[in-house]
Amino acid sequence: MIIQLEKNITEANKDKVLSALSKNSFKIREVKTQISDYLVAIGKNEFDIRLIGNMNGVKDVHKVDDDYKLVSGKWKVKPAQIDLGDNVHIGSNGFTIMAGPCSIENENQIQGMVEFLLQNNIEIMRGGVFKPRSSPYSFRGVGIEGLKQFYRICSANKIKMITEVMEPEQIEEMYEYIDVFQVGARNSQNFNLLDALGKVDKPVMIKRGLSGTIDELLHSAEYVFSGGNEKIILCERGIRTYEKAYRNTFDINAIPVLKEKSHLPVIIDPSHGTGNRNIVEPITLAGIMAGADGAILEIHECPEKAISDGQQSLNFNEANKLFRRMEQTYDFRKQIYINALD
Ligand code: PEP
Ligand code: MN
Repeated sequence: MIIQLEKNITEANKDKVLSALSKNSFKIREVKTQISDYLVAIGKNEFDIRLIGNMNGVKDVHKVDDDYKLVSGKWKVKPAQIDLGDNVHIGSNGFTIMAGPCSIENENQIQGMVEFLLQNNIEIMRGGVFKPRSSPYSFRGVGIEGLKQFYRICSANKIKMITEVMEPEQIEEMYEYIDVFQVGARNSQNFNLLDALGKVDKPVMIKRGLSGTIDELLHSAEYVFSGGNEKIILCERGIRTYEKAYRNTFDINAIPVLKEKSHLPVIIDPSHGTGNRNIVEPITLAGIMAGADGAILEIHECPEKAISDGQQSLNFNEANKLFRRMEQTYDFRKQIYINALD
C-alpha cells in the first residue's frame, strides 16, 4: 500500500496514521522525495484502505500488490515525464534520442559529435568517461577532466548529456557536470550506488543487468525512488542468453511489459542490445513499434577507430539514415496506436 501524505501533515496526524498501520501489523517505510511524501506499508493485502484514506493529512491511498511499490504502474494514472530542464523531456509524449560515442575520447571528437547532433535536432549526447570494462587491460575512460570538457562543450551548445557513474563516491564530483546519471548493466544491482542516487535531484537511467530479470530492474528502480529521487528512466540493453550469433539478445518483450508494470519511461539501447552495427537499425525500429519512449545509440565519426565498442557504433551516414527511419516509424506508430500505446 502507498499512502501519499499532505505536504503539511502535522506530526500528531502522521503519528495517528503510523499507529493505525502498526496496529494492523504493517511494516512501514517513510519516503520523502523532491515531489511528495509517502508511507510505503508492507503487509496484508485484504485491508480496507478507507480506514487510512479518511484520516487527516492523508492525500491518497493506493493498493499495490506488486513487490515493488513506488515504481509500479498500479497507482499512477499518468506515465512519468522526466524533466531535464530547458524544455528537454523524456517520456510520456514524443520519442527521445540520445546518441554519441561509447567512450569520450578527446575534445575534437566531442565538438564534432555535438555539431552532428545539432544538425539532426538531437538534444542529448551520450558518452562514457568512467568505463566499466570486462578486461582490466582495456581503456577505462578519460575520467573527471574529460567529463568537465564534455559538459562544457555540450552546455555551450544547449545539448544535455548522459554518462555512467560507477560508484557512490563519484556522484559528488560528477554532479555539477552531468544532466543524467547512467547506471550501467554491470552496476544494475549495486544497491549502495542506487541508494546514493536516491539522494540526488538529477535524473537516473538504470540499465537492465547482464542477466537481470525485469523484476530485478524494477526493484533497482524502487531503490532510487524510495531513496528520494523520482526521476528514473529504465533501459532495456539486451541480456545474456545461450545465443552466440550476437553480443546480447535484445529483449523486445521487455518494452511493453515494463511500460505496463511501471509508470517510468523505457529507453532502448540497440547498440549494446545487439553488439553488431548491421542489426542496430531493424532492432531500433522494432523497439519503437513495441512502445519505447526513446533510444540511446552509439555513434562514432569513424567506428573502425573507436577506442571501445566500434563494432556496434554507427558512422554519421548510417546514423543519419536511421534517424530518418526512426521518425517515420514513430509517426507510423502514432497513427496505428493512437490510444493504445501513447
Ligand atoms: C555503455 O552504455 O557504454 C555501457 C557500458 O553499457 P552497458 O552498461 O549496457 O554495458
Ligand atoms: Mn559501449
